[in-house]
This record gives sequence, C-alpha cells and structure tokens, in this order.
Amino acid sequence: MRCPFCHNPDSRVIDSREADEGATTRRRRSCPACGRRFTTVEEAVLAVVKRSGVSEPFNRSKVVAGVRRACQGRPVDEDQLQQLAQQVEDAIRASGVAEVPSNEVGLAILQPLRELDEVAYLRFASVYRAFSSVEDFEKEITELRMRHHRGGTPPLPGLQIEPPAPRRRGSARSPSAARDG
Ligand SMILES: [Zn+2]
Repeated sequence: MRCPFCHNPDSRVIDSREADEGATTRRRRSCPACGRRFTTVEEAVLAVVKRSGVSEPFNRSKVVAGVRRACQGRPVDEDQLQQLAQQVEDAIRASGVAEVPSNEVGLAILQPLRELDEVAYLRFASVYRAFSSVEDFEKEITELRMRHHRGGTPPLPGLQIEPPAPRRRGSARSPSAARDG
C-alpha cells in the first residue's frame, strides 16, 4: 500500500484487526521511507455484473432507489426501505458468490418487497419481469391471492384486522368449588 504522505510505494503492516463484526479489516501501517503511520480499511467487494458485462460494487442505495420508485404513494417508510435493502444484501452475500448478475439482485428484491407491500411489488415486478399484458398482472395477482389463502403473506399494512381475542373461560370459579357439599 502506497504511503499517502510521501507516496513511497511500500508500507509495513504493524497492526491488523477486524471491525464491523468481521465485515472489514483495519490495518495500521507504517511507511519505511518517512516513518509516518496510516490506517487502511479492507472490505470484501461484492460485485454486480450488469447485462453489458460491466461489473460494479454492490450498492445498497441503488436497491433503495429502485424500490422507492415502486413504493411511491404506498405506506412504506425510509426505515423499511433500508431494512429491505439490508435483506437483499444479506441474501446476496449468503449466496456465497462474489459476482452476482444484476438480474439476481432484482430477484432478491422481489420476495422481501412482496412481504412489505404487494402493490409496490406488482409495480416492481411489472418492470423487472417486463409484464407485457394485463394477463401478466392477472397471473401475478392470482399468485398473490393463493399466497393469502395459504397464509403465506401477511395482510397489507394498515389493513390488518385483529383476530377476535379468544374468550377467557371464567377462571375465577374453579371447578372444585362447584363440588357438592
Ligand atoms: Zn511515507
């Protein structure tokens, strides 16, 4: 690593420790030429490969920007967008691949977005999966309905109806008290 002070092309690592729960490594370095010390931060790069073949580092804010567009006018707040982007990043990192095609990033967005807001999900899916007809929407909506039936998707936020609380059996009177004397 080149010294930022004197631009000596070499430096010596004098200390190395993990930070951010192991996501990054901070190294304390010393320059043999000028003797000054500096710190470098090392982070494994998760690359996204675009259709053109160009790769760029995975960027959570790009995920947020794309999802935010789909969430316009929907009851989704900034925290939820950030959380979703984190879920997407976790899913991609969990795949164990260092270079991910950009369409897989889109795929990783679909599932958590469906859980978050179904209207936003439909918007996003229509662009991402290039819906070309009303039938495409119908198919997707049928799929969503089936998920509701299976109980796979929680109701939309704001539409949640509390199930009636189970009736408490009168516990004040114990069965033994009713025994004949
Ligand atoms: Zn130096």
